[in-house]
Amino acid sequence: MTKIKLYNTKTRTKEDFVPIEPADVRMYVCGPTVYDRAHIGNARPVVVFDTLFRLLRHKYGHYAVRYVRNFTDVDDKINARASEMKANGDARDLKAIIRELTDQTIEWYHEDMEALGTLRPTDEPRATEYIAQMVSMIEVLIEKGNAYVSEGHVLFDVNSYDAYGALSGRKLEDMRAGERVEVADYKRDPMDFVLWKPSSEDLPGWDSPWGRGRPGWHIECSAMSLDLLGATFDIHGGGLDLQFPHHENEIAQSCCANPDGGFANVWMHNEMIQVEGKKMSKSLGNFFTVKDLLDQGIPGKVIRFVLLSTHYRSPMDWTDKKVAEAKKTLIKWTELSKNHAFSNDGHPHISVVEALSDDLNTPGAFAAMHDLAKKARSGDYDSASALYASMEFFELHDMIYMDDIGQRIWKGLEDRKSPGVIALVENLLSERDEARKAKNYTRADRIRDGFIEAGVIVEDSTEKTSWKLSDAFNLVKLEALK
Ligand SMILES: [Zn+2]
Repeated sequence: MTKIKLYNTKTRTKEDFVPIEPADVRMYVCGPTVYDRAHIGNARPVVVFDTLFRLLRHKYGHYAVRYVRNFTDVDDKINARASEMKANGDARDLKAIIRELTDQTIEWYHEDMEALGTLRPTDEPRATEYIAQMVSMIEVLIEKGNAYVSEGHVLFDVNSYDAYGALSGRKLEDMRAGERVEVADYKRDPMDFVLWKPSSEDLPGWDSPWGRGRPGWHIECSAMSLDLLGATFDIHGGGLDLQFPHHENEIAQSCCANPDGGFANVWMHNEMIQVEGKKMSKSLGNFFTVKDLLDQGIPGKVIRFVLLSTHYRSPMDWTDKKVAEAKKTLIKWTELSKNHAFSNDGHPHISVVEALSDDLNTPGAFAAMHDLAKKARSGDYDSASALYASMEFFELHDMIYMDDIGQRIWKGLEDRKSPGVIALVENLLSERDEARKAKNYTRADRIRDGFIEAGVIVEDSTEKTSWKLSDAFNLVKLEALK
């Protein structure tokens, strides 16, 4: 069977993946801080590591892989968002707002990530349920001389750990000079980071040997991974933006608390996302959540396909063109393979597995599927069924279903033309005709231009007006025309 090779950030080489125990492969991926809807950049690691999870299960067996992804539900950003809500008139006490905000965000996260066809990890620990484990790990670090108490804070002493900076390849001196670090009186070195900090009465807090307080972000992942996966496990993943300082700090904490453990063997980082060649930002207006895209009528599987069409270690550019191409490809592949769904053993094609085994080469796997599609088109049934099984492996299958009267409907593609959309377009068309008759050309032109923007193609002839939706159909823009 094909060997899996993975690029290890720790060694900066592509290595053969050798699990510690093939019957119990263990992976930890940093999860979201829950105060807001996930944006498309947050979705990339989820889809990437979901694909790795599927590959590992394919190779080692369904129940031989444990995948942990946490929820950070105690954090200054959460407190800040809740304070904002309170300032905007929410009358409840801050802790009640925080509880509801984090619960609600976790629910949204599950909805959005499931729409992208991702599997639930084996465990999804919430940081607030692991405070006791964090406190005991901090106690160990103090005892071993790697952490110190200062003005109600507990800080990790970066100078006590020689390998600090090894993962990201940074030296302490350069970090002090180059990074925006918080200089505080209670720190011995500006690079020392917080393990525990005091909480005021209105903020979430827990009793500890250092007074009522809350954990720093980094200790959360160290404590949860230790509890659920042990002091040594196989893979630790996350976005490249977490490499420093988050992962560097996780390593320092875990390796000092359990020097014999070694923490994670393989470190994997996915690159970042841009939108139409620009950095995604709220001020540029190119910032969108997964929910925004789903609401525009882009099926979750199309989003998934676009995210996987770039290799995870390359920066990816999200473009409308890629979305349109992904839709076309998935429709084509489904048409070619749908009648062969049950005719093979359900295994993805070997060429697909081989590509994925080479450091999760998803574009290579899709190229292999294009080859299968080509053969399927020339009547090769084996390729057609291998294509279906490969799509199923990626959770990209089942793009169509039959409605009550047996008509084929594309999930999220044709059914965009819902009764509501039809009524809306018809109403706007008659409003446009009325406006023309009344010589209100401003309104008539506004509707005409709005249709173009929303991806509604209108064809006027002397007898009748007909219309259809283009691939770029956007319901939000259409509704704005009302
Ligand atoms: Zn983490």
